Amino acid sequence: MNDKRIVIYCSASYTIDPKFNEAARQMVRALCKKGYAFVSGGTVKGTMGVLSEEIQACGGYHLGILPRYMQGLEYTGVSEILWTDTMSQRKELMREGTCAAIALPGGIGTLDELMETLTLAKLGRYSGRIFALNIDGFYDKLIDWLDYLVDTRMLDSDTRELIRFPRTVEELTSYFD
Ligand code: AMP
Repeated sequence: MNDKRIVIYCSASYTIDPKFNEAARQMVRALCKKGYAFVSGGTVKGTMGVLSEEIQACGGYHLGILPRYMQGLEYTGVSEILWTDTMSQRKELMREGTCAAIALPGGIGTLDELMETLTLAKLGRYSGRIFALNIDGFYDKLIDWLDYLVDTRMLDSDTRELIRFPRTVEELTSYFD
C-alpha cells in the first residue's frame, strides 16, 4: 500500500450545487500540501474535472483511470492515464494500493464505488480507510440506511464503523497527516 495515495470518488454531473465543487478544490489544496497523490476516474466531467484542475494547479500527482470507451472524455492534464476494458477493472485499479478512499457528494457511480470499496473492506480485501464527505448533511440518508442495516442485523457494526462521515473538509483532511 502507498501511504500517500488516495482514491477519490465524485460526481460526473455538470449541474450540481457549486458548493460541492468548491469543497473538492478545498480538499485537494489541503491534501496536496500534506503531500498526497490522487487517483480518480480521470474525466473532464463534473466534480471530477474540477478535482483534476485543482490537482494540476497544486502541482500534485494525479492518476486517472478510464474505460477505453470513455476515450475523448479524459482530462489531459493528469500525470498519468490508465485505460481499462470495463468499469469493474477501472474500480479495481482505482483502489489498488491506496491508503484511503474518499467519496465526495455524488450520484449512483459514486455510491457504487463507495459501497464496493466498503464491501471489499468487510471481506478483508481493502485495507485503506474509507470516508464520505457529509457536507451539509449530503450523506445523512446513507448514514440512516447503514444504521438501519445494523439494526436489522443485515450489517455488522464492525463493518459500519469502517466508514466515517466527516461533515467538513477540515474535519476530513484532519484524518490525514
Ligand atoms: P456519478 O456519481 O453517478 O456522477 O458517477 C461518477 C463516479 O462514478 C466517478 O467517481 C466515476 O469514477 C464513475 N463514473 C460513472 N459513470 C461515469 C461517467 N459517465 N463519466 C465519468 N465517470 C463516471
